[in-house]
Amino acid sequence: MPIATVNPATGRTERVFEELTEAELEQRIAAAAEAARLLRRTSFADRARWLRAAADLLDAERDEIAATMTREMGKTLASARAEAAKCATACRFYAEHGGRFLADEPADAAAVGAGRALARYEPLGVVLAVMPWNFPLWQAVRFAAPALLAGNAGLLKHASNVPQSALYLGGLFARAGFPEAAFQALLIGAARVDAVVADPRVAAVTLTGSEGAGRAIGASAGRHLKKAVLELGGSDPFLVLPSADLARAAEVATVARTQNNGQSCIAAKRFIVHDAVYDEFAAHFVASMSALVVGDPMLPETQVGPLATRQGRDEVEELVADAVAKGAKVLCGGERPGEGEEGGGWYYPPTVLADVTPEMKVFHEELFGPVAVLFRVASADEALEVANATRFGLGSAVWTRDEREAELCTAALEAGAVFVNGMTTSYPELPFGGIKASGFGRELSEHGIREFCNVKTVWAAA
Ligand code: NAP
Repeated sequence: MPIATVNPATGRTERVFEELTEAELEQRIAAAAEAARLLRRTSFADRARWLRAAADLLDAERDEIAATMTREMGKTLASARAEAAKCATACRFYAEHGGRFLADEPADAAAVGAGRALARYEPLGVVLAVMPWNFPLWQAVRFAAPALLAGNAGLLKHASNVPQSALYLGGLFARAGFPEAAFQALLIGAARVDAVVADPRVAAVTLTGSEGAGRAIGASAGRHLKKAVLELGGSDPFLVLPSADLARAAEVATVARTQNNGQSCIAAKRFIVHDAVYDEFAAHFVASMSALVVGDPMLPETQVGPLATRQGRDEVEELVADAVAKGAKVLCGGERPGEGEEGGGWYYPPTVLADVTPEMKVFHEELFGPVAVLFRVASADEALEVANATRFGLGSAVWTRDEREAELCTAALEAGAVFVNGMTTSYPELPFGGIKASGFGRELSEHGIREFCNVKTVWAAA
C-alpha cells in the first residue's frame, strides 16, 4: 500500500510520500531511546506543562488539521473539528490527573515485615503505536497523552492513507516543549512493523486496528516478549426492549451507526429489537437513516461522507450483496451511486437490512460502513443471546426504562463497555477497550496510563 493522501471524495492522489530508509528508521529509533532516557528524568509538572501546550496548539490549529483529516479519509469537516477538540481535552485531562494516577501507592508495611513498602509506576521506555485511519488524530492522541505524561517516548506507525495527519502528530509534541524525539512519526509500511517490535530499544507495542493486524502484531509481541495492548474491531449490539423510548432510541441508533461515515469500532452495528416494538422502532429508524444528508464532507450540511478507501467501500458493497442474495431484505439504501470523473467519491448510502440469518457474512463480520442490521427477538433473554453470538466484545448499548432489566443486561453483555439509554462513546475519564476478538488491555482513564508502566514493588527493611 503506497503511503499517500488520496482524497476519498474525489479519488485524486494529492500527495505521495517516500517510506523511511533503513538508515532513517534506525536513526529515529535511536533518537526515541535517547528521548525516553531524558523523559524519565523530567517531572510530572514539566510533562503536564508540555501536554497543556500541545492542547493549546491543537485548539489553535484545529481548522487546519481538521481539513487535513477530511481530505485524507473523508470524515465530515465538523466531525474532524470535534475530533481535534477532543484530543485537546484528553491532553488537558492527563495534564491535570496523570500525576495523581501514577503517585506512589503505599502498602501495609508491617504486614510484609518492612519499614516501608509501596508500588511505584515507572515508564517502560519506547512504545510503538500502530494506528488506524478512522480517527487519525484521536486514536494516536489517546495513546500519546498518557504515555508521554507517564514518561514514555512514542513511535507512531500510522495507517498508510493518513501520512499528513501522521506528520502533524510527529511534530506536535516537540513543538509543545517535549524533548525533540519524544514522539515521532515513522512513515513505514505494515511489513516493517515486526522489525520495530523486535528492536531491543522498543519496550512495548500498542495497536488500534483490525482483527487481522491484531493477530499479526500480537504474535510479533509474543515472539519478542513485548508488552502489548490491542484495540481491535467490534460488532456492537444495540438492544431495544419494550419499555424503551423508541423515538429517542432510533435517533441515537442513527448517529451511532453512521458517525464517522459508519467507520467506528464502537459504532452500533447490530440492532436487536424486541418483537413487541420492532415495527415501530424499524419505522422510526428507517425514516431517520433515509433522511441523512450524504455528500461532500467539506460542506456543513453533510452528515455522511464517503468511505475512506475504495477497498472499504467495495467490502461493504460485497457484504450487502451477499446478504441480499441469501434473502435479506433492504429497508433503505443498499445501492451505491456511481463514481466521479477521477474514479473517486467512494460513497455508500445509509442502509438498513432485515431478515439476516447466520448463513450471511454480515451476521459474523464487522460492517465498516453505514449499514445497519436489524434482528427481531421474542424476549430479553433472546436479545442477549443474539448480542453475545459474536466473536467480538467491544461496546454495547441497551435501551430500556426498566432498571432491573438494565442491570441484568449490563451484567450479561459480553463487552468492554455497556451504555444504558445512550450512545457508546469514549471519554478520557472512563476506561476503553474490549474482550474476545476485540483485543485486550485498556486505554484512557487511570487504567490506560498504567498500561505502559513498570509497577515496581519497593520494600525497605525497618
Ligand atoms: P488495519 O488495516 O488493521 O490497519 C491498522 C494499522 O495497522 C495501520 O497502521 C496498518 O498499516 C497496520 N497494519 C495492518 N496490517 C498489519 C500487519 N499485518 N502487521 C503490522 N501492521 C499492520 O485497520 P484499519 O482498516 O486502518 O482500521 C479499521 C479497523 O480498526 C476496524 O476493524 C476497526 O474496528 C478497528 N478499530 C478499533 C478501535 C478500537 O479502539 N478497538 C478503534 C478504531 C478502529 P497500513 O495502513 O500500512 O496497512
